[in-house]
Amino acid sequence: MADFKVTELDPDLDFGNLTYWDVIIIGAGPAGLAAGLTTAHRALTTLIIEAKDRAGGQPQFLYADKRIVDIPGFPDGITGEELSSRVYRQAREAFVQFRFNEELVTIEDTDVEEKGDRLKRVVTSGGEYSCRKVIIAVGLLHFPRKLPILDALETRKVHYTMPKIGDYDGEHVAVVGGGDSALDAAVMVQQRNGHVHLIVREAEPIGKADTLQRVRDAGAEVHLSTEIVDAEFHGGEIALTLSSGSVVHCGRAIVQIGFLSAKDTFQRLHVRLNDNGSIAIDPYYETSRKGIFAVGDVHGDIKLVTVAWAEGIQAAIYAFKEITSPYWLNEKRLRDLKISLIGEKLAADASQLSRTNR
Ligand SMILES: Cc1cc2nc3c(=O)[nH]c(=O)nc-3n(C[C@H](O)[C@H](O)[C@H](O)COP(=O)(O)OP(=O)(O)OC[C@H]3O[C@@H](n4cnc5c(N)ncnc54)[C@H](O)[C@@H]3O)c2cc1C
Repeated sequence: MADFKVTELDPDLDFGNLTYWDVIIIGAGPAGLAAGLTTAHRALTTLIIEAKDRAGGQPQFLYADKRIVDIPGFPDGITGEELSSRVYRQAREAFVQFRFNEELVTIEDTDVEEKGDRLKRVVTSGGEYSCRKVIIAVGLLHFPRKLPILDALETRKVHYTMPKIGDYDGEHVAVVGGGDSALDAAVMVQQRNGHVHLIVREAEPIGKADTLQRVRDAGAEVHLSTEIVDAEFHGGEIALTLSSGSVVHCGRAIVQIGFLSAKDTFQRLHVRLNDNGSIAIDPYYETSRKGIFAVGDVHGDIKLVTVAWAEGIQAAIYAFKEITSPYWLNEKRLRDLKISLIGEKLAADASQLSRTNR
């Protein structure tokens, strides 16, 4: 029995035959799952559409085995896989509905009105759904940037996500990239008895300096200002010729050099974008289109699970307020504007007063 008040959805509701959903969330990563849990706990019918075959987002697909240590409440850390499965279970138990293997195509406005809202039509690769509010939580889209010189080897020993390997057994592994993801990958290989060759294009890796030090201390060979100029695959072994002239022989390569921009998908949504291609939002996580919110990595500067959760929850509550009390956000915006105008006036009056008193 929960100690907090949750307004449960009716478990007998025929979710398959709803004419429209209160909220549709795109993406079942941390931001989308937290948003879904929050709307369902407020008795809003909630559908999450996910491109992959499972929920969880990056922690599930990019670092399932990594022990995440910066989530409050888990002093011993928690793996990406376990965290994802716990939040997914919580969402299912709150009667959030899921459609997997469906990708968002576009979101259209319709002329159909329901309780003061003009319904939106969410078009996916698998169907069309009507709803009152949409929350976009598609993260980085999981299209890792590829390295053509390694792709050309056509071997499964080149990885773009962290492979699930229990013990590398002394195997030599090339980790390519200098960001936090590459450094994390290097640490994970070392923790599983692998020998790391870290290959970084830049003179200074952009990832955390203390993680780099940890990787060095654990015996990695770190090649800075270095690119791979040639690669061969023979007899189960990869040979990488580096721009420095040295050759690295390894059993596998893990490439972590960032992600392709999701700009094309975002452009199809006709929402305003920031200069860097991310989705522009207002202080209430609403995009330039009314009733469409965006949360998590899709716009965020701070890319963390907890931040994605917090944003998903806030947007869900704003969506709930708008559904239960239409124009709530506009009234809030007007109130904020008035407060800032009052602030400006008070500041002007104060400076006028100090001038007269001089
Ligand atoms: C290697 C690595 C290590 C990290 N370590 C940590 C850490 O230790 N601690 C921490 O707090 N954070 C860490 N992060 C960051 C954290 O994982 C992200 O900030 C967080 O996952 C963002 O959540 P999100 O829901 O916004 O996006 P995502 O996790 O990217 O989830 C988005 C979901 O949307 C789906 N999707 C994408 N496009 C579509 C579409 N068109 N239609 C339908 N579904 C779609 C995706 O498949 C995915 O499931 C790490 C990231 C990486 C890459």
